Amino acid sequence: MRELESVDTVGVVGAGTMGSGIAQVAATAGYDVVLRDVESAFLEDGLERIEDSLDRLVDRGDLSRADAEAALDRIETTTDLEALAGTDLVVEAAVENMDVKREIFADLDSVTDEDVVLATNTSTLSITTIAAATERPELVVGVHFMNPVPVMKGVEVVVGEKTAPEVVTLAHAFSESLDKETWESDDKPGFVSNRILMPWINEGIRAFDEGVATKEDIDRGMKLGTNVPMGPLELADHIGLDICLDATETLHEELGDRYKPAYLLKRKVDAGDLGKKTGAGFYEYD
Ligand code: NAD
Repeated sequence: MRELESVDTVGVVGAGTMGSGIAQVAATAGYDVVLRDVESAFLEDGLERIEDSLDRLVDRGDLSRADAEAALDRIETTTDLEALAGTDLVVEAAVENMDVKREIFADLDSVTDEDVVLATNTSTLSITTIAAATERPELVVGVHFMNPVPVMKGVEVVVGEKTAPEVVTLAHAFSESLDKETWESDDKPGFVSNRILMPWINEGIRAFDEGVATKEDIDRGMKLGTNVPMGPLELADHIGLDICLDATETLHEELGDRYKPAYLLKRKVDAGDLGKKTGAGFYEYD
């Protein structure tokens, strides 16, 4: 496996919302970046998003103009798959479609050196299934950035069936080198983040549809009531309703009806473990 110390050039596949953000944070952290998409127009849009985002950071005083320009200079854009040949680590952020991702990973497997780690930013698809399209499943890992990438601190590292432990360590270290903080999930549908987030969004949408409250009150209620920065409907809009639908469909297919009260919840209540007020719930309290 190529160690992080010898990673100079990061390949990013897909220049959309996430890929452009990943390219930006990698370049800002000092990596050279090769950003690949299927059409020049998508690359131009991606670069424009990066420029706008860097400008905002400069305006806010979070980045110097010189550093923003240096980051931009480190990003090479291409529609040519072969341009990824010289990369030391690749993060794939193309559309959320298993066939597309498997094809991309088979291509990456053939163009990159055999010790290069191939990461995917998939929100819901199986890392194990994506990895099986390559001859190096032990070097395939999930590195799931949050949207918008330059703003959100968190990265979910997802461990496939065959992902090697040192590749998991590298995924954490690479994310931290981009000034991110990580958590780890097994390769189960939706991982930690979307398995919990998507039913929350979905239920917000249903509540609105069933006239429980106005959309504004649903969002206000969740923000004021649970201290999250965005309510479910605002967040769904922010993520992209298509992305939410794809993710929810995957969870539905894989996990079935998620709306029944969890068995463990019932058990804890039966046992009198009601949370902080009884000294125990899912955690212990003094
Ligand atoms: P997007 O539609 O904005 O961008 C996808 C890009 O991939 C497009 O520019 C498309 O042209 C390109 N693409 C498609 N096929 C390609 C190929 N063969 N080679 C290179 N590029 C190709 O999508 P997005 O929102 O950036 O999502 C990308 C990935 O990140 C998905 O897997 C998604 O699930 C995941 N993700 C999205 C979010 C989010 O909030 N949008 C958050 C976390 C993870």
